[in-house]
Amino acid sequence: MLKASSRAITHFSLLLACALFIGWLIGHIADTLALALFIWSVVQIHQLRKLQHWLAQELVTDPPDAKGEWGDVFDHLYRIRKIRRSRESQLLDKLSRFQQFSAALKDAVVILDQQFNMQWWNLASEQLLGLKNQSDQDKPLFNILRDPSFIRYCQRGDYSEPLLQKSPHNANIELQYTITEFGESEKLLVARDISDLTRLEQTRQDFVANASHELRTPLTVIRGYLETFLDQGNLPRPLQKAMLQMQQQSDRMQSLIGDLLTLSRLDSTEMNLDDEPINVSRLIISILDSAEQAAEGKKHHISVDLAENIGLVGKEKELHSAFSNLFYNALRYTPEGGEIKILWRCDDHGGYFSVTDNGPGINSIHLDRLTERFYRVDDDRSSDTGGSGLGLAIVKNVVLRHQGQLNIDSALGKGSTFSCLFPLETLVEL
Ligand code: ADP
Repeated sequence: MLKASSRAITHFSLLLACALFIGWLIGHIADTLALALFIWSVVQIHQLRKLQHWLAQELVTDPPDAKGEWGDVFDHLYRIRKIRRSRESQLLDKLSRFQQFSAALKDAVVILDQQFNMQWWNLASEQLLGLKNQSDQDKPLFNILRDPSFIRYCQRGDYSEPLLQKSPHNANIELQYTITEFGESEKLLVARDISDLTRLEQTRQDFVANASHELRTPLTVIRGYLETFLDQGNLPRPLQKAMLQMQQQSDRMQSLIGDLLTLSRLDSTEMNLDDEPINVSRLIISILDSAEQAAEGKKHHISVDLAENIGLVGKEKELHSAFSNLFYNALRYTPEGGEIKILWRCDDHGGYFSVTDNGPGINSIHLDRLTERFYRVDDDRSSDTGGSGLGLAIVKNVVLRHQGQLNIDSALGKGSTFSCLFPLETLVEL
């Protein structure tokens, strides 16, 4: 373009010089200059009109014939138009591929702005969430998804865990919602249909619950006979030893079945809070009173520090199961003469129940997996103590149902602290 403008200046200067010379020759400088300017303007206007006409065409046709600086301008514009058209078609191609891809997605994907207004969504969102094409554009998501727990989940800002809920559009569809933040606090909401997984999980839960339930009766009969035989007391020594071992193993089996049934009850029941707040201190003392057998005469030093005026809203039976699991673990894994501290207190963050011991501790590589079902650090250690690997899974499940959090702090050779943190809103003054 620079070339064209300098060429135009040269041509214009030449024209003026010629007009001046001819004007001087014939003695009419002003007239010849005016005539030259007029011719120059007519040529420019003509070229401009050609340009305008050419630019108005939708298709990029060959540029009009032109020489000199206008030829340069047309060539330059032609190149720019061609590049722009090719970029446009590439972009359109990408857009149509993106549209095909988003339409093929089985998950509902919704893009939200900072205020949770819907900016864009794919076809599956219309089937899974009931969003309507165009008419819902820029409307708040909560106009459509009105469930209070969904709104709380979105507004809480912590999206590390997904939310499971039925589809607002079809109650037979179970959805898993996840939210990812991007850009300037914009959000990508993904809802996945997990109905098949949920049905499979339900079948698994039913199977475990039924199998555990069915095993209970034959086990009770076996335990009854074993007790009767052992009570007679006149068995030959080798038989008595075998019988005692059978009794020990059947006790283990019974506690395993009990734990499995507890877990399937926790998995399958909705959380209904007890009307009356739970007196946590009294609950802890009742657990301590009934723990003598588990202590197996190991003479632990047990210290207790309880905030007696703080209660908790929750399910007493479940909390009893969780707290006693932690306390019994401390008793079982801490060697003779060890120290165990039980704490129930409250501060600005919430209420804490914790059990600390100076037992063998746990290697940090196991900590993340400790609450998985049947996960045991050391099979020998656990079977010595009659453990099933389900205790901490029960604790975590109960604590989560009470909107709490289970923390495990442990180091090999230094003991362990298991603490359950309950949010302030679940605490009550007694
Ligand atoms: P288990 O029935 O085997 O005790 P848990 O789920 O209660 O199952 O515990 C999982 C594992 O965590 C146990 O196998 C044990 O190795 C370890 N563990 C739990 N509590 C303690 C503790 N207080 N001290 C040391 N190890 C522990």
